[in-house]
Amino acid sequence: METFQEYLASWPLDRRDEGAQRANGKSVPALLERESLRPEDFLTLLSPVAADYLEAMAQRAHELTLRYFGRAVNIFTPLYISDVCTNQCRYCGFNAKNPQKRRHLSVDEAVAEAAFIADRGFQHILLLTGDARKLSSPEYIAAVVRRIKARFASVGIEVYSMTTAEYASLVAVGVDSMTMFQETYSPELYAWLHPVGPKHDYGFRLNAPQRAAEGGMRSVGVGALLGLETFVRDAFATGLHAWWLQRHYPGVDVSVSIPRICPHEGNFAVQHTVDDRTFVQYVTALRCFLPRAGITCSSRESAFMRDHLVPLGVTRVSAGVSTVVGGRATQDMHNPGQFEITDRRSLPEMIASLSGIGYQAVLKDWEDPAESSLGSSSLCAI
Ligand code: SF4
Repeated sequence: METFQEYLASWPLDRRDEGAQRANGKSVPALLERESLRPEDFLTLLSPVAADYLEAMAQRAHELTLRYFGRAVNIFTPLYISDVCTNQCRYCGFNAKNPQKRRHLSVDEAVAEAAFIADRGFQHILLLTGDARKLSSPEYIAAVVRRIKARFASVGIEVYSMTTAEYASLVAVGVDSMTMFQETYSPELYAWLHPVGPKHDYGFRLNAPQRAAEGGMRSVGVGALLGLETFVRDAFATGLHAWWLQRHYPGVDVSVSIPRICPHEGNFAVQHTVDDRTFVQYVTALRCFLPRAGITCSSRESAFMRDHLVPLGVTRVSAGVSTVVGGRATQDMHNPGQFEITDRRSLPEMIASLSGIGYQAVLKDWEDPAESSLGSSSLCAI
C-alpha cells in the first residue's frame, strides 16, 4: 500500500510554492460554495490572495462547523509523565542538550497524577513523554494506561514514533488515540531541526499516523509546528496529511492540531512567525477542506484566540494544563515545562467560557464498546 510519504512526494515544495503564487483570489467565493474541495483548492484558500476573503471563509467555516459538530467542544488535559529525551530538536525546551533537571515518573507517580486529574472531572487524558525509548518504553506507557484506564473514557498518547505492533499493543491495553506532530513537512529543514536522535528519521515519523491507524487506533491526529517553515508549505502538507488519512482509513477519526511555536528554554529564532490573521485563515481553510475533521487548539494560544476560533472550526481544547512533569499531584516544579502556556483556564473556567460564547463543553464523546456496562444485554425493546 502507498504510504503518505510516497504520496507527499507528488507535492514537492516548489509545487506547493507555485500553487500558492498562481492562486487566483477571485476563485475563492466559488470554492466556498462547493461541497468538497480538492487539494489544489485548499492550497488556494491558504494562499496570500485568499486573505482578502477572510470574512467569507470564516462564514463558510462557521456554517460547516455547525453542520458537522454543532456547538459541542471536546475537553481534554495533557499529562506529562517524563521529560527525559534523547533528541536535540533545536526549538524545544526538553532538548537533550538543555541542562535542566529531568524527571521520569514511576508508574505509581503517574497514576497519582492521573487520579488528581480524574478527580477534577476530566474524562479525556493525553499522556506525553520525551523520546527516550528505553526509559519511556511502550511497556512503561502500557503499565500506566492499564492502571488509569478505568478512570477515563479516552486515553491518548503523544509520544515518539512507534511500529504498528507497538501501537497495536497500546490499543490492546486501552489507548484509543494518538497525535503525531511532524513539526515540518520539509525534509531538509526537518533534518536540520532534528540533527541527532531517533527523531532524525523523517520518514519513520511521517508514516507514524498511518501505522497507528493500521494498529487499530480509533483516533489519529497530525500537525505541523507553525513557524518553523513558511506558512503555506507546512499548512498545506498538514491538511493534505489529514485528507489522505481520511481517504485511506475511513473508519479512523482523523484530526488536525494547530500549534504555533512558543518561547522556550534555549535560543531558537523563529523564522516564519504566523500572525493572527494568517492563523485564522489556516483554521478556516482547514475546516472548508476537511469539514468532518476535528481541530485541536492547545493552551499555547490565548483564551481570546481560542474562544475566537471555536466558532470557526476548533472542536477540541485543553484545560487545566501543566507542561511540567509531576506538575499536579506531586507538585515538583523542577523545570519550566516544554513550552509556555498562554491560556491557564481550569476545567470549570473553560466550561464557563464556552458556555458564555454559546458552546457546550463535552467531557466524554466516546466510550470503549468493550467496556460498556450494557454489555451483551438485549438493547432492542421492540
Ligand atoms: S520536541 Fe519532543 S523529541 Fe524533540 S527535544 Fe522536545 S521532547 Fe524531545
